[in-house]
Amino acid sequence: MRLILLGAPGCGKGTHSAWMVEELGIPQISTGDILRDAVKEGSELGRQARSYMDSGELVPDSVILGLMRGRMAQPDAARGFILDGFPRTIPQAEGLNGALGDAGMKLDRVLQINVARDELIHRLTSRRVCPNCKAVYNLDFKPPKQGDICDACGASVVQRDDDREATVAQRLEVYERQTAPLIDYYIARGLVAVIDGNQGYAHTRAEIETALGREAKR
Ligand code: AMP
Repeated sequence: MRLILLGAPGCGKGTHSAWMVEELGIPQISTGDILRDAVKEGSELGRQARSYMDSGELVPDSVILGLMRGRMAQPDAARGFILDGFPRTIPQAEGLNGALGDAGMKLDRVLQINVARDELIHRLTSRRVCPNCKAVYNLDFKPPKQGDICDACGASVVQRDDDREATVAQRLEVYERQTAPLIDYYIARGLVAVIDGNQGYAHTRAEIETALGREAKR
């Protein structure tokens, strides 16, 4: 199954990818995680991406498309994948269509997760992440069990630089301007299932399961 999780920063794409990976047996491909690893390693990709990420802007489409073509060609992606944070612009969506078409593949579903703006700001500024295993926490509703220690791997959880309040506003503005147009783009292709992400983890998960269940029976 080839899925896109589409929604603003903080809507729960990473959180819900975690159980979907287990249940569907396909990898999550998060461009944000790949870019953060590249910045940490100090690679050429990281060097190109860093200033855009720090200011809450999008990394250029050409850089992202090169990176994603390589990632989707890895053996673990042959049976499908969950795209988290990609595509983020119409040219990226067109590039994805091209790459899938070349490989004789197609998208199955776009899950569009809706969350109100105030809630997004609240979730992002109280989010903490494990830089080692990528587990996601929230100081309000899902804190680590012991201080700032990751439950899964024992590393210290941190706040992402771009989850600080000033950058969050910019990221939401960039989402509205550059990424939200993808909703109509994929509606026109009959691929969108709208998910209400405002009601908490269990409710959102149930809506995603229903959307995928319907898809599986087709
Ligand atoms: P995320 O973890 O998905 O919120 O991404 C963090 C940052 O990485 C974004 O604010 C962008 O600077 C960059 N980024 C991630 N995915 C993309 C993408 N598909 N296109 C452009 N920039 C991206």
